[in-house]
Amino acid sequence: MTQIYDRVAVIGLGLIASSMIHAMRRAGLAGTITGYDASPAHMQMAAEDGLCDQLAGSAAEAAEGADLVALCVPVGAMGQVAEEIAGHLKAGATVTDVGSVKRAVVDAVAPHLPPDVTFIPGHPMAGTEFSGPRAGFAELFDGRWCLLLPPEGCDPGALGKLRALWTAMGATVEEMDPDHHDLVCAVISHAPHLIAYTMVGVADDLRRVTDSEVIKFSAAGFRDFTRIAASDPTMWRDVFLNNKDATLEILGRFTEELFALQRAIRTGDGDMLHDYFTRTRAIRKGIIEAGQDTAAPDFGRSTRRPGE
Ligand code: NAP
Repeated sequence: MTQIYDRVAVIGLGLIASSMIHAMRRAGLAGTITGYDASPAHMQMAAEDGLCDQLAGSAAEAAEGADLVALCVPVGAMGQVAEEIAGHLKAGATVTDVGSVKRAVVDAVAPHLPPDVTFIPGHPMAGTEFSGPRAGFAELFDGRWCLLLPPEGCDPGALGKLRALWTAMGATVEEMDPDHHDLVCAVISHAPHLIAYTMVGVADDLRRVTDSEVIKFSAAGFRDFTRIAASDPTMWRDVFLNNKDATLEILGRFTEELFALQRAIRTGDGDMLHDYFTRTRAIRKGIIEAGQDTAAPDFGRSTRRPGE
């Protein structure tokens, strides 16, 4: 594979950033990778592991002279980092981000950036419940979607290079509008995470009643909820605070459906329950046919990397 950018700066050396770095290295896509993280412990790990070619003393220093700057910090920190790097960006550089929410990030980042820099927001649709510079691996984006959200009139050359980078890191790229992105992600990711957090919270409350049987006998359904509910608290706090409207809209619809199912159970409406579950089963089949999951009864766990 050929090099796409000469100098890449990665700010926030967590799961997504370290996976990008491993994926860029796997395919030789960057000349030099400079990293920076606000956490001294994460900087220490990155130094010990040789994660980046260089580590910088600040976000601004990392961005200096970079052809591509990738903001990989929690959504709530994006604006502050953009402000820090703004005066240090090279003319003609591309700035991107990987935040799970897009409208709030665009509003927080874009006003800080100089006009001779191209900002192309992004969102790789891949992750695990692990965090930090040691959580990443080169294959994270293989066969997964990466959404890019170029503003109107975006420089086609800059967009083409970023598309090429994500494609070479294993992802399939699609373009989307930020508001549409936030609604889609509220349905497929944000609301499901909130429901998982709630279900595990309820089970934890009940633990006192059921005397830890919840943990002892935890079977697939609940166990899968606990995996999702183990996701990074900072990241998910920021997702909900920054995708408020779309998440509340979906949770409103969810509550209505829940009440309908609750009523069917109360009134013994087996036909309603059966029809509903038949419809949802077809959705699962569609996801497998689209190659977005495996039909293995263990959800592909046996084929996942350790720690994934
Ligand atoms: P992560 O593993 O927690 O990494 C984020 C890193 O950024 C942490 O080391 C954090 O340090 C550091 N950081 C926080 N504020 C900073 C600042 N102001 N300047 C420099 N570094 C800072 O998180 P992640 O899972 O990689 O997520 C990063 C971004 O990717 C988020 O915006 C998230 O929404 C998005 N994303 C995540 C997933 C996923 O499944 N995890 C998937 C797609 C996109 P501390 O830990 O000390 O705060």
